Amino acid sequence: MASVLRCMDCKQTYPIDRRMVTCPVCNGLLDVEHDLDALRGQVSHELFDQRLGSWQPLDRSGVWRYRELVASHVPDGAQVTRGEGNTTLYTASPRLADYAGVAKLQLKHEGENPTGSFKDRGMTTGVTQARLLGARSVICASTGNTSASMASYAAMAGLQALVFFPVGYVALGKVAQSVAYGAISVQVEGDFDDTLALVREAADELPVYLLNSINPFRLEGQKTIMIEMLHQRGWSVPDWIVVPGGNLGNSSIFGKALHELHTLGLIDRLPRLAIIQAEGAAPLYQSYVEGWETRHSVRAETIATAIRIGNPANFPKAHRALDWTNGVVTTVSDQAIMDAKAQIDAAGIGCEPASAASVAGVRRLVDEGIIAPDDDVVGVLTGHLLKDPDAVMHYHADTLDNITATFANRMLTIRPSLAEVAALLPV
Ligand SMILES: *Cc1c(COP(=O)(O)O)cnc(C)c1O
Ligand SMILES: [Zn+2]
Repeated sequence: MASVLRCMDCKQTYPIDRRMVTCPVCNGLLDVEHDLDALRGQVSHELFDQRLGSWQPLDRSGVWRYRELVASHVPDGAQVTRGEGNTTLYTASPRLADYAGVAKLQLKHEGENPTGSFKDRGMTTGVTQARLLGARSVICASTGNTSASMASYAAMAGLQALVFFPVGYVALGKVAQSVAYGAISVQVEGDFDDTLALVREAADELPVYLLNSINPFRLEGQKTIMIEMLHQRGWSVPDWIVVPGGNLGNSSIFGKALHELHTLGLIDRLPRLAIIQAEGAAPLYQSYVEGWETRHSVRAETIATAIRIGNPANFPKAHRALDWTNGVVTTVSDQAIMDAKAQIDAAGIGCEPASAASVAGVRRLVDEGIIAPDDDVVGVLTGHLLKDPDAVMHYHADTLDNITATFANRMLTIRPSLAEVAALLPV
């Protein structure tokens, strides 16, 4: 049986090549549903190992290497790929692991993707689907990385990209990418949630294909963050996966990925998922602590602009992912985010502010006794250090409002004198 689209609410199914982003009957979120029984005979650890030794572009991509699990309906040659994925799984230095509070910490650095964030894993599949459906233009609302990625993949595919940002809250590196890659780049006088609502309405009414993370084909690509990480670990399952939560696309699809891998027998147990939200943008956390009585939304505020989202579109899927993985949700302050970032940066790894929520989150969950100090923990770093240079320079100059530069590395100025250079060397 071929993959289908299935509504997570009313359970209705639709053909995989139907042009829709949410359920036309009840407006629920759609899943790409694979025939796991058929896949069981097709995929194996050995198949994925073999592809690691190949120069074939599909095998080289850290998304399409796992194509049976991601988008088996796409004919070979139709993929819009730029070799995304293949990101490093760092073992944190003892100093960084100690800061987080655990003995064993690994960090999967999704900032090493072609445009500098995990969004590329979703755009290779999303833009491929757009082209299969015959779309000529693609649209997204973005806190920056979605637009940078979509603009690049759309350009590669010969599609026109239209990207919409909330005015004033997008990091410089990200806007620069969208403009450079040729997207029609627009600021909207509102926040991210207003911007997404506008773009969803536009995609309903106008002939343009929506590539926000409610698009289920995007999420299938992002699934490979988990698959590739487990492959890198020889399929040894960690105790915890820790991920920042904004629009909750990753959180949602990590749950689905792990559930499918377990059902297929590719892993022998499930790790627990920990979703970390910024204190000022934590609607999932609010519902979680209340036992899911209501679906909260908030006016979001945080320095971590990539997770500055008050009404996450993938909320019900993230809830389902927590159920599947016995997961937890917590929050971290902007101070904790920026201090964790300074530690990740100073370890030589580096990331953008939102990404550091994962390490700050580990630290918090260890403090609360939820993660044990000897647990095996994998954190996801979602974006590259250079996405937000302003946040770096203002932190180290100690010029951020309401944040203290606990680990400041001040820039110095000297006269051209050897004695002044000599005075800088460690004694
Ligand atoms: C998009 C993004 C996030 C948020 O991911 P969601 O899947 O929307 O929760 C976090 N960090 C970075 C760097 C991002 O670009
Ligand atoms: Zn439905």
